[in-house]
Amino acid sequence: MLKKKPPVLRHFLSLVSRRANHLARQQYDVIVVGGGHAGTEAAAAAARVGAETLLVTQKINTIGALSCNPSLGGVGKGQLVREVDALDGLCGQAGDWAGIHFSILNRRKGPAVWGPRAQLDRQRYREFIQSELLSTPRLTVLEGSVEELLVTEPDTAEPGHHRVTGIRLVNGSHPISASSVILTTGTFLSGSLFMGQTTSPGGRIGDAPSSAGLSHTLRERLGLRTGRLRTGTPPRIVKDSVDLSLAQIHPADSHPTPFSFLNKHTRCKPEEQLPCYLTSTTPGVERVVRESLHLNHHIHEDTKGPRYCPSIESRVLRFPGRSHQVWLEPEGVTSDLLYPQGLSMTMPPDMQLRLIREIPALHRAEIYTPGYGVQYDFVCPTQLSPALQVKSTQGLFLAGQINGTTGYEEAAAQGLWAGVNAARCALDLPPLALSRTESYIGVLVDDLVSRGVTEPYRMFTSRAEFRTSLRPDNADLRLTLKGFEEVGCVSPLRYQEAVRVRDSLQDALAALQTLTLSTHKWRQKLPDVCISENKNTTLSGVELLQYNDASFEMLASAFPESLSAYLEFSQRLKIEAVYKPHCDMQRKEIERIQKEESMSLPQDIDYLSLPVSLSQEVREILDRVRPSTLGAATRLQGITPAAVVNLLRYVRNTE
Ligand code: FAD
Repeated sequence: MLKKKPPVLRHFLSLVSRRANHLARQQYDVIVVGGGHAGTEAAAAAARVGAETLLVTQKINTIGALSCNPSLGGVGKGQLVREVDALDGLCGQAGDWAGIHFSILNRRKGPAVWGPRAQLDRQRYREFIQSELLSTPRLTVLEGSVEELLVTEPDTAEPGHHRVTGIRLVNGSHPISASSVILTTGTFLSGSLFMGQTTSPGGRIGDAPSSAGLSHTLRERLGLRTGRLRTGTPPRIVKDSVDLSLAQIHPADSHPTPFSFLNKHTRCKPEEQLPCYLTSTTPGVERVVRESLHLNHHIHEDTKGPRYCPSIESRVLRFPGRSHQVWLEPEGVTSDLLYPQGLSMTMPPDMQLRLIREIPALHRAEIYTPGYGVQYDFVCPTQLSPALQVKSTQGLFLAGQINGTTGYEEAAAQGLWAGVNAARCALDLPPLALSRTESYIGVLVDDLVSRGVTEPYRMFTSRAEFRTSLRPDNADLRLTLKGFEEVGCVSPLRYQEAVRVRDSLQDALAALQTLTLSTHKWRQKLPDVCISENKNTTLSGVELLQYNDASFEMLASAFPESLSAYLEFSQRLKIEAVYKPHCDMQRKEIERIQKEESMSLPQDIDYLSLPVSLSQEVREILDRVRPSTLGAATRLQGITPAAVVNLLRYVRNTE
């Protein structure tokens, strides 16, 4: 049920934003600073939980701006979008509204690690997010720049502990009070922009950095440790100047898969989707990079950049002599620009033009805006609790790039979770945490608060030990019910839909389980499924679905009375059946850990050389702390559930 935007959206936005500048009140439950991907989800989530919320951001018209690539999702990131959607967040629905090229990445691998992804129309994405926020009950949006965070002096009973009381705006005469404040300032904290030999203050091209007062409060008054990271973006290229016949066309999926569990279709019809194009660098590109090195300040900085989204300079210097892929991606339905993914660069603009023209498809290309780099401060996230609250400052929450992550999806996921907890804190409700066993959001937050970051953190499926259970297809069953019943951030409408899906899937699986036939009978019923001849046992419908060439549609046409009612869930049932044995085993292991919480761990155990699969980091933590029980090991920061499972198996085997 794709949401419809009002046709007079722009007029509506200007009216609301003008009204928003006259604040109705000076006291809020929650104030969110920053209207990027973290801030928008945070503000919407806090309001959904029931908190009177204020979102303050530098410019209302940049709310929901895609600072870099016009795309959402991907491997690991798509899982986060589905989870944010399952908790009633905005980005999934915005992606379905703004998507112009949908594809499932990693399709050759199992569905657990498929990556739903879409190219987006930048303008449509921003308009959707702005329209949603400006019509959210209990949420006020204010254009302004936050100069200072207001905090109490340290508590004498608890030295070093502060409490946040509100914010003060640049040029603001009086403070605005709140019980909780969420900072989501992205790349803007002490931000500097780099292009060639020029450096200027900025959080993003065209936007000023966060005021120095904010960094001062975090570092000097609250004593928080900060670090510095960097990232960069490619030049935008005029589409008409590109010879696309020299690039390889990549069409979108013929059936777009929506991000949102509430949508059956995307706004863009299958035939309206725009293609992407693939091309690659030549030796000339490497030559220009080397010739421009002395003119490129950003590349000489020691600050760490995103390892998995490196600049063309870093790629060429790390892998000399190779050809590197460049994707030419559309920026929107009516946009005249292409986004060259893989060509992020910070050399002077004239060298950028020389570089792109070394690529055959771009030999006459024109640059609309040059690429640039940004360096910014982040707060070391080990200083946060699993609720994303600063441990030493009651009521202060941080989310998004300020915590050392990179990417819209990582920011959105943290924003939602910080929004939920900031609202709960303001409403005197206990904080909530999501575990690594139930969500990628739990993995993300746990990685940040227990391990910290040394380079921009992005999500991968390999970070989730329980990825076969944490699939994009089942995020609603994992999170929507909990989101409504325990967290309070999910609407009744979405909850009812999730209950309907859960009940239907349970009924369908029960029907498949009772459908038990001999392999001989199955071969007669489904001759197209290759069931091995020598097997003469019985198989349930669930077991039969585990065969590669069996589909739920086949079973439903053979047994229409018991199965045809569930055809709507064909793909989900196939995936459930395929992963069932593995997920059942994992669930049992998790239950066993919970049951064996009090199991003693031998005190003479040599964790550093234990012959089980444990990372060096986990070994060192266990060796240092030497927990007395399995439960104590489970609660240690940095110890993953998978490590506890391996420890449990080892101790049981040696008893
Ligand atoms: P942002 O989206 O940056 O939003 C921050 C918001 O806070 C802005 O709206 C800003 O106006 C507001 N704000 C800041 N300070 C104040 C203040 N004091 N008062 C009020 N409002 C304030 N990600 C990738 O995954 N890959 C990439 O290659 C990549 N390259 C990038 C290149 C550039 C040049 C930039 C700028 C970003 C890049 N990103 C990249 C990062 C991506 O944009 C971010 O990960 C994502 O936007 C983070 O979301 P956020 O909500 O944390 O912050």
